[in-house]
Amino acid sequence: MTALHDARGLFADLTDREPDGVWSAPGRVNLIGEHTDYNEGFVLPFAIPHRTFAAAAARDDDRIRVASTFAEQPVEVSLRDLETLFPTASGSAPAVPEWSAYPLGVAWALRALRADRTMFGVDIAIASDVPVGAGLSSSAAIEGAVAAALAELWALGIDPVTLAQAGRRAENEAVGAPTGIMDQMASTLGRADAATFLDCRTLETRSIPTGFEAAGLELLVIDTRVKHAHSTGGYRERREACERGAGLLGIRSLRDATTADLPRAAALMDDTTFRRVRHVITENQRVLDTVAVLEAEGPHGIGQLLVASHASMRDDFEISVAELDAAVDAALAAGAIGARMTGGGFGGAAIALVERTQVAAVADAVERVFVDAGFTAPHIFTVTPSEGPRRDV
Ligand code: ADP
Ligand code: MG
Repeated sequence: MTALHDARGLFADLTDREPDGVWSAPGRVNLIGEHTDYNEGFVLPFAIPHRTFAAAAARDDDRIRVASTFAEQPVEVSLRDLETLFPTASGSAPAVPEWSAYPLGVAWALRALRADRTMFGVDIAIASDVPVGAGLSSSAAIEGAVAAALAELWALGIDPVTLAQAGRRAENEAVGAPTGIMDQMASTLGRADAATFLDCRTLETRSIPTGFEAAGLELLVIDTRVKHAHSTGGYRERREACERGAGLLGIRSLRDATTADLPRAAALMDDTTFRRVRHVITENQRVLDTVAVLEAEGPHGIGQLLVASHASMRDDFEISVAELDAAVDAALAAGAIGARMTGGGFGGAAIALVERTQVAAVADAVERVFVDAGFTAPHIFTVTPSEGPRRDV
């Protein structure tokens, strides 16, 4: 992994000096619980070894400059400009290049935490190992890395949940992507030995050991390399359908419904809205069941829950694509215990839970199916639960 090195190199090119430090935060995979976060429901993600690095240093003026190996040009504004740039008007694009609204949005959100706003300027250079737009939350990783850097440089003394909330504000209000809090919480609360069970209404969390290693299992990520963007179309529509469904049921959010409410929901709404609602209600139950099975009997028992989650996203929520379905079907046919698409959908990655001895066979089978279908070759790798934001240098 060379992203730490790349962030330092970019910082040197940008400033001709050494950074005060380098901070990083991880991407995440979601084991189960998709599109439940903004419905105030349950999710079970874990942070992955892939990280985004932010090399940063204080400036002696009030300007903030951000650069990324992902972008052609650095972007520089004064700190005071942040309050005129953000929040971005609903439905329009940010007035700065979109990628820069993630780090600048974090600076804006963190600035609001201190009433006197006596922060100084900073230079930040960013590089990442997290594949962008693959459903592994490169967005939470960049937000977390920048938040960790600024929190320390500005001596804000804030906890991981507040860091996560600053990232979410950046994504929702600066970038304009209507995403939930799961990704930021998964990244900032990452632990080397466990997944994070998160109640997205109360923000209560519980660490749930996955037990993969002891059970001789590996979690494979199959990045289809079909890119998605959450600031556009389908994601927003799904979110609106969920709000409409909750309204018709007369509840604050779909979190307040259970599978017992499904017959009533079917009678109250059109078929498409009903299927969106059914996905969320059944997915919340699957997250609770997955936690219960992991705690009672370990990871071998969760395969069918992963498979059912995928079917629900494919058929009811309609956010899968041909590459994701092919990856899941091929992995299961080659012996995976369970498999599902992960992340917001419309592209990105699938996960497969596989016996350690079967990893190569499953990866080969998926690659073969992709060749035969004429799809771009996928990136396939294993991930283990990993730690949250940290200072690296
Ligand atoms: P995901 O989080 O699944 O990777 P998103 O669409 O939520 O996908 O976020 C991807 C966007 O986040 C990119 O298009 C870019 O704007 C921004 N981003 C992520 N990582 C970086 C990075 N290292 N440098 C600059 N921008 C980044
Ligand atoms: Mg994202």
